[in-house]
Amino acid sequence: MQIRPEILTAAKKDLTALVAIPSVSARAEGLPACADKVESLLRDAGFLTEQHPGDVGPFVVGETGDGPFTLLIYNHYDVQPEDPVDLWTDPPFALSERDGRLYGRGAADDKGEFVSRLAGWRTFRADRPEALPFKLIWIVEGEEEIGSPSLTRFLESRFSDTKADICWWEYGEVDKSGRPIVLMGFKGILAVELQCRTARADLHSSLGAIFDNPLWRLAASVSSLRDASGRILIDGFYDGIIEPDECSKELAATPPFPLADLQAETGGNRLLGGVGPDNFYAHLNFTPCLNVNGFHGGYGGQGAKTVLPCAGQMKLDFRLAPGQHPLRIAELLRKHLDKHHFEDIELTILDAEVLGVRSDPAHSVVEMGAALLEKWFERPAIIQPSSAASGLAHPFVHKFGATLFGAGLTHHGAMLHSPDENILTAQFEKMIGFAAEFFALLSDVAEDRAPGSLHA
Ligand SMILES: [Zn+2]
Repeated sequence: MQIRPEILTAAKKDLTALVAIPSVSARAEGLPACADKVESLLRDAGFLTEQHPGDVGPFVVGETGDGPFTLLIYNHYDVQPEDPVDLWTDPPFALSERDGRLYGRGAADDKGEFVSRLAGWRTFRADRPEALPFKLIWIVEGEEEIGSPSLTRFLESRFSDTKADICWWEYGEVDKSGRPIVLMGFKGILAVELQCRTARADLHSSLGAIFDNPLWRLAASVSSLRDASGRILIDGFYDGIIEPDECSKELAATPPFPLADLQAETGGNRLLGGVGPDNFYAHLNFTPCLNVNGFHGGYGGQGAKTVLPCAGQMKLDFRLAPGQHPLRIAELLRKHLDKHHFEDIELTILDAEVLGVRSDPAHSVVEMGAALLEKWFERPAIIQPSSAASGLAHPFVHKFGATLFGAGLTHHGAMLHSPDENILTAQFEKMIGFAAEFFALLSDVAEDRAPGSLHA
């Protein structure tokens, strides 16, 4: 199945125009210009549009239609910095096409996702220009790559009493064999730094006979946090976790790829105790974990330096399950450190904004969406109960009450955040086709011409 060539040409033109605006939120660069472009694309496609200021970049909102349910689409127009720029084959802010791929910063994350949906929308509207029989709210932000500092506040103020039934998440993945993945959830995250100082300045290591060492203290404190199976030993850590429903458990019980593949790909060769080929995927989906991201202090240069360092730092992140509030976990961590006589270790919260969420994979939008994805991608869709990673989805799920639906065109070699970011032209086309038919199907359901209900 293919879409009309002029649709694809217009979509490439839009993507070219968006990629040409270096909307790098980390440098607060190009954001108003890119917001204006996004707004004009939505306006030209028939949406009632508005912009609202964010802390760093404006929010663009497009709305249309009315009916028995609401579809919310979330995207972002900001991108990661292009550095290191000399590792790009072609300039990062000029869309280039070669070997069946479209390259450029934002080609995938997230301008390509946005444009494919918009091109699908236009295709759908060309056939059905009458009033949309359901409500569609499209929110495009400019601060996603810096952690969406004003998104939650913006949603609460602009959409204080708006509910939505479905949230089409800003991206989705296609695995390396071309199977589309529908993401139903994300883990939450808490990132912290631990600091320990035991002297005014670095000392001669002979004094280690009488003075304690901050790196020993950090190592001892962190090793008290977890056992060899990865189980976290902080009192109350697992309290309040929302257990996966039966359907999610069933989905996670059948890994869509073997553990050996992941091991071969990553070189990861030390599994946590109790993790094996049968349960690794369930762990990726559901199990909270604690990582040491970095451990710094003392001397790391060439040769020996017999020093007793005066201070050290350690960065940690927790990937959390739905029901675990990051700030509560930070409190429990503080209590744990005090209880184990690490009162002198300073705890700084770096990130506690993202809560874990999981939507119901048995929701009818998932079944409908997955069937359409299968039709366009010619491979059965994988329904993934939760990403192993984190995304700021809880305002959409908790505030709007929406079911998460994460489908998109981010392929295995998309090089997100890296030089030569790209999408596959064929998948771009498939996503346009999927989007067009998805909008049409939702219209049919709203008009009772297709079975099903899309209320959350
Ligand atoms: Zn990104």
